[in-house]
Amino acid sequence: MNSKSKIIVVGAGLSGIMTAKYFSSHNPVIYEMSDRKIFSDEHAAVMRVKGPEVGMILGCPMKKINISKAIYADGKLHNEPDIRLKNMYSLKVTGTIAERSIDYSSNRNDERFIFTQDSIPKYHDVRFRTKIKRITDNREIISICDRKETLTEDVEIIISTIPMPAMLEITGVKHSIKFEYQPIKVTTADINVQSSVHQTIYFPELGINIYRATLENRKMMIESINDWPTDAEIDIVKWCFSVSELSDVNTKEQRFGKITAVDDSFRRSIIMELTQRFNVYSIGRFATWNPAVKADDVVNDLKRIEKLINLSEVNRKYESYID
Ligand SMILES: Cc1cc2nc3c(=O)[nH]c(=O)nc-3n(C[C@H](O)[C@H](O)[C@H](O)COP(=O)(O)OP(=O)(O)OC[C@H]3O[C@@H](n4cnc5c(N)ncnc54)[C@H](O)[C@@H]3O)c2cc1C
Repeated sequence: MNSKSKIIVVGAGLSGIMTAKYFSSHNPVIYEMSDRKIFSDEHAAVMRVKGPEVGMILGCPMKKINISKAIYADGKLHNEPDIRLKNMYSLKVTGTIAERSIDYSSNRNDERFIFTQDSIPKYHDVRFRTKIKRITDNREIISICDRKETLTEDVEIIISTIPMPAMLEITGVKHSIKFEYQPIKVTTADINVQSSVHQTIYFPELGINIYRATLENRKMMIESINDWPTDAEIDIVKWCFSVSELSDVNTKEQRFGKITAVDDSFRRSIIMELTQRFNVYSIGRFATWNPAVKADDVVNDLKRIEKLINLSEVNRKYESYID
């Protein structure tokens, strides 16, 4: 890649920060409209990845852990999911039947990586509170800083990590698709005894707001859809984990908790159009509007985008020779 290519990263969530770090030799400018300062300012739910690369790219070493899982249904704990429980869970959280993290085997050693208290990604070098308002066909970015100062910049490569519908609005690309999403409600708390385990329990039944609860060392994370968990539901969680008390209880709503998949060929054609017309490369779960995307996939997509950018650089040089 031409080391002088000017890269703009739109959005400073996990994908945006990974992108900026990956392309750090280009000194990318990162635009972010919120004032989040660290990853956990926004993301309170469970965050586990399969490999060490995410932490390596971010420069935030992650800790390897072994996780155990169970399912609460029919008033008892199940060690293994059967097809009914898997489908119930998927229908509850996505409205469709698809592979979800409940699909595990208790015989398998489930190894994952997590951020520790000291390695949570911090968002440095970000133009905070700068909202991209418009991207034109000739790659001019118009943004507004702190709701007053308007900035205009010409760029070569734009890497978008913001939700696909927001990028379609910014670029003025017409479409007729409804992008549906649902917020989730996350309750975090501490348990009252020392703990060094990583356990997750799934709640596939529709009659309970909670869909997943996780004990990470002493920290409990209870994720719910539709409504906040009732006291009786919290009691079920305590019974499942055999803990008697929860303290330091906090609550947070995550806006894009669950997104609904859209037609795959439409999704891909939008990603292509954004690249071909505006040189916008989309990365991450929301920018590609794909609920299956995890941070590990972002690593592979960064490598793919690097190749695509290299290829377009070569083509451009070639075209300039034959001009
Ligand atoms: C409940 C839940 C659990 C998950 N668990 C896991 C897990 O265990 N493992 C895993 O790998 N992944 C997991 N994921 C997925 C992963 O965490 C998320 O995909 C990731 O945090 C999303 O980061 P992002 O940077 O792609 O998007 P976001 O965090 O949404 O970042 C996009 C940013 O763009 C900004 N923005 C939007 N519009 C504009 C604009 N016009 N101008 C400037 N900035 C703008 C927003 O303010 C936001 O900060 C989970 C996701 C959820 C919701």
